[in-house]
Amino acid sequence: MLEIVPVPAFTDNYIWLVHDPVCGETAIVDPGDAAPALAETERRGWTVTQVWNTHHHWDHTGGNRAIKEATGCIVSGPAAEDIKVRDVALADGNPLRIGAHDGRVIEIPGHTLGHIALVFDDARIAFVGDTLFAMGCGRLFEGTAQQMHDSLQRLAALPEDTALYCGHEYTLANARFAAHAEPDNPAIAARLKEVEQLRSEGRVTLPTTVAQERATNPFVRASSWQDFAALRAEKDSFR
Ligand code: ZN
Ligand code: FE
Repeated sequence: MLEIVPVPAFTDNYIWLVHDPVCGETAIVDPGDAAPALAETERRGWTVTQVWNTHHHWDHTGGNRAIKEATGCIVSGPAAEDIKVRDVALADGNPLRIGAHDGRVIEIPGHTLGHIALVFDDARIAFVGDTLFAMGCGRLFEGTAQQMHDSLQRLAALPEDTALYCGHEYTLANARFAAHAEPDNPAIAARLKEVEQLRSEGRVTLPTTVAQERATNPFVRASSWQDFAALRAEKDSFR
């Protein structure tokens, strides 16, 4: 079993720690800030051996250099993007490994053009960065609506019990928009209530699952890229 721990950073980022208790290795996913990630690994007595980046944005890579200098870890990130102190360039289908756990890379462009997800099929775990959020999706900074739609469909096609670890705590705002986009969807209404409760207690709403996203994420549920594009445009100005 892999142990996965969220480290909150900045206002709403999550840096994910991935620890294999058998081999003792720890990977840090998307360290926008080195200090909180290293503080948490030190507190737990965990040895950092890898950093994995999903895309180049500073809030996901800003801690790469300091973590590499502090630990000597190997930094892996998308081949198609400029990633600070990257050792291993990852493209579609490339393998990843922590202990005895094998993962693979899938390319999911849209938020950025080289954005990747890190998928551990047997462990039923995927790190999806800023492409899919619980009940929402990332903004289109570099890619097209068609690319983002295809990327979300690729993630939604993973086994339904796959846990999805996202880069930000955006679930409450996304749930409110989802309830507006699909007012007659009882799964969305129920999840909005749950998320309101969790956030009022200051709790983390992630990971989500493929099954939950298929049922409650309007961006995943859009039937065409044109419908997706209209929804994304509406969300950009939704208050
Ligand atoms: Zn981003
Ligand atoms: Fe981000």
